[in-house]
Amino acid sequence: MAPSMAAAQPLPSSKTESYVDNKRKDDIRTANIKAARSVADAVRTSLGPKGMDKMISTATGDVIITNDGATILNKMEVLQPAAKMLVELSKSQDVVAGDGTTTVVVIAGAFLKQCQTLLHSGIHPTVVSDSLNKVAVKAVEVVTAMAVPVELSDRVSLVKSASTSLNSKVVSQYSSLLAPLAVDSVLSVVDPAKPDLVDLKDVRIVKKLGGTVDDTELVKGLVFDKKVSHAAGGPARVENAKIAVIQFQISPPKTDIEQSIVVSDYTQMDRILKEERSYILSMIKKIKATGCNVLLIQKSILRDAVTDLSLHYLAKAKILVVKDVERDDIEFVTKTLNCLPIANIEHFRAEKLGYADVVEEVSVGDGKVVKITGIKDMGRTTTVLVRGSNQLVLDEAERSLHDALCVVRCLVNKKFLIAGGGAPEIELSRQLSAWSKVLHGMESFCVKSFAEALEVVPYTLAENAGLNPITIVTELRNRHAQGEINAGINVRKGQITNILEENVVQPLLVSTSAITLAAECVRMILKIDDIVTVRIYVILHFGLETFWINNSDSLDFFDCFIVDS
Ligand code: ADP
Ligand code: MG
Repeated sequence: MAPSMAAAQPLPSSKTESYVDNKRKDDIRTANIKAARSVADAVRTSLGPKGMDKMISTATGDVIITNDGATILNKMEVLQPAAKMLVELSKSQDVVAGDGTTTVVVIAGAFLKQCQTLLHSGIHPTVVSDSLNKVAVKAVEVVTAMAVPVELSDRVSLVKSASTSLNSKVVSQYSSLLAPLAVDSVLSVVDPAKPDLVDLKDVRIVKKLGGTVDDTELVKGLVFDKKVSHAAGGPARVENAKIAVIQFQISPPKTDIEQSIVVSDYTQMDRILKEERSYILSMIKKIKATGCNVLLIQKSILRDAVTDLSLHYLAKAKILVVKDVERDDIEFVTKTLNCLPIANIEHFRAEKLGYADVVEEVSVGDGKVVKITGIKDMGRTTTVLVRGSNQLVLDEAERSLHDALCVVRCLVNKKFLIAGGGAPEIELSRQLSAWSKVLHGMESFCVKSFAEALEVVPYTLAENAGLNPITIVTELRNRHAQGEINAGINVRKGQITNILEENVVQPLLVSTSAITLAAECVRMILKIDDIVTVRIYVILHFGLETFWINNSDSLDFFDCFIVDS
């Protein structure tokens, strides 16, 4: 492939520019590069629609099957610090673009391979690093020039790019359902006042085991993955709902400290019970007085949200109760319902309630969920109810949907599309190689090497699809040299076609951020010439004995030793 060609070319030799660092520093740099490259090699086989999936078995015995680069790396137990940087790189790409998490690591791996060759030829790491920076800046310019603008009203193009991202997933056969769903979810949360921003927190994914991925649906409203809590006679369906989100509990208060009260007299016992009853009744009366007929109660670790007694009275008052709403979900719930959370019964007022046509418990798969639909003045949020026949598929469906959502978000942020299938990378490689000829000296040589490194994407796509990578990449180069800038690998047909016509498109942001972040990470690795391990000694006094603790953040028994006693 590319690097061997780079190595074959004669080096411009000049004594002053040739750089030999001391042995230890060289060794550390080489070790870092090697370790980081091995991480990149581990995920290389999962790139593209024909890429392999990974089965990850965690320490707790769980099994995960995934194709998502960020997930694979996140679950890998990487110890070497430089290799960890590649894991972080994939995470950054996940945050910035959401898709392209394998691509970014594969590109970084290819850059590292070229660095190895360049350093080995005696070029100073700073020269290599600066050249890589130049390559990244120029690359962004070139792909931006290749991009085609897209309008948010052009739903077809958005769906195409979402399905490209789903193509490579385990759940790819459902892309015709999931891609439009992702587009609709994201577009429905775009605020016309801020047309460039999407907060994916406004799209909530609720997973429910049972059925198949085909049953996945977009719900205009709220879904809680739990049953309604009710005693005999309590409602499980309420129409014209007046909904309160409360952060207090409908149960008798507990003492702050653990106490036991011994009651020996029966009349006293009776009084306590009566107190409890009247306490709860007065609360429920206040709630009922506002017309509220649905209560969503925040989860509390201090005491029970409801007791048998309060459920009984709530059932009598015909109030539907959903308890244990997660604290983190409260913001989403109140935003959707367009209501205010109520922290205390004293503040329970009608103007804080939300309104909806129906709140009901429905059977889904093996379990039940509570759905709230027809919300009045609903906030800009969406819920997607993801279904799957087993946990493995369900989890992967969620992760894949996340990627598709991110792709649409990228297009909302930066409204440009580019072709996929290795087309932009080959074009970049060609234009950067040509550009390297106008540069001088070492820099020109380094830029050329990095330009060749970008061919790793089409090379790997072809390799993973079982095609002959060398023939395909050579043919691609020819086509691009003849001006077909959108010629790419059609992995389905196993040949080179105009990839835009095949509807394989991806957001510009995914490609630009992949190149920029990969370059940044490789430059950081290049600049490291030493690893210093810091040991922290902490002295602990336990009674008469003093312990030294080696490395305070891992309080391991074996690290402690007695200093004096
Ligand atoms: P990542 O985690 O980096 O998104 P993927 O496994 O999703 O990795 O692969 C993405 C790559 O696959 C992109 O370069 C994209 O252009 C390419 N790709 C996706 N679908 C197709 C297709 N149908 N034909 C050719 N290439 C494709
Ligand atoms: Mg992808």
